[in-house]
Amino acid sequence: MAVNRGTGPGTALAALLFLVVPQATAVEGCGAEGVALQVLGSGGPIADDGRAGSGYLIWHDGRARALVDVGGGVFLRFGEAGARLEDLELLALTHFHTDHAADVPALLKGGYFSPRRRALAVSGPDGNRLMPGMEGFLEALFAPDGGAFRYLDGFLEGTQGLFALEPITVSAAAAQPVEVWRDDGMVVHAVGVHHGPIPTLGYAFELAGRRIVISGDQNLSTKYLAPLAADADVLVMPMAIPEDAGSVARNLHATPSAIGRFAGAAAPGRLVLSHLMARSLDDLDGQLARVRDHYGGALTVAEDLQCIPTHGP
Ligand SMILES: [Zn+2]
Repeated sequence: MAVNRGTGPGTALAALLFLVVPQATAVEGCGAEGVALQVLGSGGPIADDGRAGSGYLIWHDGRARALVDVGGGVFLRFGEAGARLEDLELLALTHFHTDHAADVPALLKGGYFSPRRRALAVSGPDGNRLMPGMEGFLEALFAPDGGAFRYLDGFLEGTQGLFALEPITVSAAAAQPVEVWRDDGMVVHAVGVHHGPIPTLGYAFELAGRRIVISGDQNLSTKYLAPLAADADVLVMPMAIPEDAGSVARNLHATPSAIGRFAGAAAPGRLVLSHLMARSLDDLDGQLARVRDHYGGALTVAEDLQCIPTHGP
């Protein structure tokens, strides 16, 4: 599904995107064969750009194995993508900002109407004074004594027709990859990334000989993600701010040139730039040029519902 951008500057942007996204297509049935990344939400916290907040699916042979982030709007995109809750092995959350986690209860509630009864692993960072940790987030939503959605408290124990949620907490200070999930088909690691004062993770998904790395929001002042990103088939990096952003924004997010340098060193099979916002896209050409100063490989500017297959060696 193409996002309708209307006329004016959006039309020029759409034309540009067409030029830089030669292999990525928005299709139903993403990942029907092999391993693919599908962008569910390529936007940020503002509802003015036709993009959902952050969300990504890891597809393998027609099944959505993992979902990364559930920002506002991802509830809708998940259904549009044809994904099914009963197929998920892992819900991996990078952090608890609204544009990454606000649709968690809305999406999970749909599970009541699905055949899923087995527990779902949900991973996320630990907390600090600004943010709950993974368990605290679920309790704030579903605890019977005070959760905002306490009518769904069955999620904590797997009762009342709801599947259980099994929280997995990873320290956002983790400098070495922490194994979050392993089954016979998929291994998932997480490391901490620096997103100002907000505990945040980046994830690496390995399945069928492919590696897809999705960075949480970060300013790249730490490089803990680098070993996971090196030679990844697909590397997703948020590009939320322009090169000349102020110091507060730069403590939260990486500049395009920093992303370019990081990607240039990691040399992924494809770099996907996401977390795009109207206010930061005024000069997309300029931002891409700063990335290109340091990175010459395959590049995709993310769109909602875009399907990005990984290809064989
Ligand atoms: Zn964000």
